[in-house]
Amino acid sequence: MKILTVVGARPQFIKAAAVSRVLRRQHTELLVHTGQHYDANMSDIFFDELDIPRPDYNLGVGSGTHGRQTAEILMKTEEVLLREKPDLLLVYGDTNSTLAGALAASKLLIPVAHIEAGLRSFNMDMPEEQNRVLTDHISRWLFCPTQTAVKNLLVEGISGGVNVGDVMCDALRFYRQAALEKYRDTGASQLQYLAEGGRSLSQGWYLATIHRAENTGDSAHLPAILEAFEQLPLPVIFPVHPRTKGIVSRLCAQGHYENIHFVEPVGYLHMLYLAARARKIITDSGGLQKEAYLLGVPCVTVREQTEWVETLGGGWNVLAQPHAVDIVRKVTRVEADPSARADYYGDGHAAEKILGQLSIEQ
Ligand code: UDP
Repeated sequence: MKILTVVGARPQFIKAAAVSRVLRRQHTELLVHTGQHYDANMSDIFFDELDIPRPDYNLGVGSGTHGRQTAEILMKTEEVLLREKPDLLLVYGDTNSTLAGALAASKLLIPVAHIEAGLRSFNMDMPEEQNRVLTDHISRWLFCPTQTAVKNLLVEGISGGVNVGDVMCDALRFYRQAALEKYRDTGASQLQYLAEGGRSLSQGWYLATIHRAENTGDSAHLPAILEAFEQLPLPVIFPVHPRTKGIVSRLCAQGHYENIHFVEPVGYLHMLYLAARARKIITDSGGLQKEAYLLGVPCVTVREQTEWVETLGGGWNVLAQPHAVDIVRKVTRVEADPSARADYYGDGHAAEKILGQLSIEQ
């Protein structure tokens, strides 16, 4: 089959790294990069480091409001679809690239395969929730990462969800060893290069990422979150997402944060190392919550809900309000229960199962 895959954002590059290599054993894949994430450390580094095939098309849409970005991806993807006439279109996750790609194909009656189908936060204020619900309803193949996701689809009257496991679990299992080996000899003193000055990392660190709209928008959430980081007993390494950069710069101009190492986004292997060796992870990222669980590192998620509900068992992931007191209490007091862990996210072979399902339909 001729498969046209649309990616555009950091987590989608990581997912494509796991899936493309397997798909290309049997199918012809054309890769379209929408350009939603375009900074070198949000895009190129993943293609280089993870050996992702070069995109056949780069739509170069860049940043913009949700409407403008979605519309531009929709129009440009349609042009590619009309030229290439693929047998199916493949999309990942819940970004504007996901929805716009799926919609362009659906209108042309090209069947859509959605990887990471069925996830729900049940909060339709989130742009990601809107994208995933709408994409699921126009997809022919619904590759769910968990049994919970299959059930979520059933509740919405969609019976075609198949639990294949999570492709990010595939990626983590595939790259973890390489990541730990690459950074094995990286002592705390070398890590200090991440940010000149700041508190020493020799006693350990917390790893943090914050970029959801609800925490980085006009709300007062980020100041409270940074205040919490200042009060923690170990320093916090915080790779700053481009969306969070502006507000972080403004806050840093107003006050000095001694306990936080603000750094540029890092590559996936570096991130896996920092995560695997962190004392705890504090995040609002979907992917990082799950990586914390898979790596056995306790996580505090600064959100009202999580789509990855399995991680909440045994205190491995705890939701926190965006208030300093709640975050500090949960990071310092909650203990995870080692006996309460299970392989909810598959065996690291989700991509093969996806390939198998697509072959059945051929
Ligand atoms: N990640 C990375 N470098 C960073 C921050 C995150 O490689 O500086 C990885 C992280 O390990 C995970 C993915 O990016 O695999 C998560 O992406 P993100 O948080 O941007 O999106 P979400 O998962 O929330 O959709």
